[in-house]
Amino acid sequence: MPVPKLEKSELIKSKHQIGLVMDLNKCIGCQTCTVACKTAWTSHNGQTQMYWMNVETHPGKGYPKDVFAYKGGWSDGKAEPGKLHEENDYGTEYDYDFKKVLFEGGAEYLTPSEEPTWGVNWDEDQGKENFPSTYYFYLPRLCNHCTHPACLEACPRNALYKREKDGIVLLSQERCHGYRFCVQACPYQKVYWNHVSQVSQKCIFCFPRIDQGIANACSTQCVGQVRFVGMVDDPDGPIHKLVHHWKVALPLLPQGGTKPNIYYVPPTSPEAVDENGGLTGKSRIPAKYLEGLFGAAVHQALDTLNQELGKLRRGETSQLMTLLNVMDYMDLFSLPEKPDNRHWFGAFAPPGTSPKVAPGEGN
Ligand code: SF4
Ligand code: SF4
Ligand code: SF4
Repeated sequence: MPVPKLEKSELIKSKHQIGLVMDLNKCIGCQTCTVACKTAWTSHNGQTQMYWMNVETHPGKGYPKDVFAYKGGWSDGKAEPGKLHEENDYGTEYDYDFKKVLFEGGAEYLTPSEEPTWGVNWDEDQGKENFPSTYYFYLPRLCNHCTHPACLEACPRNALYKREKDGIVLLSQERCHGYRFCVQACPYQKVYWNHVSQVSQKCIFCFPRIDQGIANACSTQCVGQVRFVGMVDDPDGPIHKLVHHWKVALPLLPQGGTKPNIYYVPPTSPEAVDENGGLTGKSRIPAKYLEGLFGAAVHQALDTLNQELGKLRRGETSQLMTLLNVMDYMDLFSLPEKPDNRHWFGAFAPPGTSPKVAPGEGN
């Protein structure tokens, strides 16, 4: 397929922008979102190692291994080249000898032939710092559908583009020639290489669902009611309120320059204790660590969250906490299209909306 004669500025523009806010204080690391995405979109050939949606324990090395050390990003309107991960950094599938596992005691692997040393979610639930003030938290990650998508800028084939109506970043499987510049440029490592089809693939923000007013699968299935989905530019919607009014929802690694549209309410934590059990006056999750993930704005966000939590403790009401605590499941989602209620609770793509019926868009 010839490269369309379009300026990058044409591919990048969008009239509106969809966004997602995840409240990390409510994520329980259950991986339901991971499985919802895996089942819906990445169970085909060449996709074993792909988790468009993954949940990492932090502090940890993430997925792929040492995920944030490979750089990439957007600077002065250009994509910064990062490094490509090794295949092993993504891990592989395991196949157990279930007779041995279930009846004979011992986890013997059929594949890989040797005991694996790395895989997705490898760091699960491993706390950091010294007992008794250990800490960890979960960080669910998907493509950020960035306003300045380094993946798009890096592609010489113009295979990536933002949807004009909602800013979802898609990757044309027909235009892609598998150069993997997009994989290198994404500072979040959220473009994946399919070694069977020899093209790059990424999260499509479940666009066939969004087009029917149905939120993405990873969000509708979230048991913690962690995720708000809506338009960033809708001043009455939850995303705008949490990001721009309350300023408690922050992008991951803002220094990457890509202006992500996935935001996080950072985790608050109790006071750390010393070895004698005495309170130290310091937060258990070091604010400096959170600053490394969410930038300097995390300090103000934590202050606001703690102030509003203080209101609840004093028996007062807090508009912010009412918004975050979500009494009605449907309040999580605020999409412009009218929802088709038949599919609200489905983890799978609605019938007839498989990506295969939309050639050129997504997977
Ligand atoms: Fe592209 Fe990465 Fe941003 Fe997704 S997160 S739009 S893959 S730069
Ligand atoms: Fe997967 Fe859809 Fe979530 Fe993207 S938005 S990570 S495609 S379930
Ligand atoms: Fe966290 Fe929700 Fe995903 Fe469970 S489904 S891991 S609670 S974001």
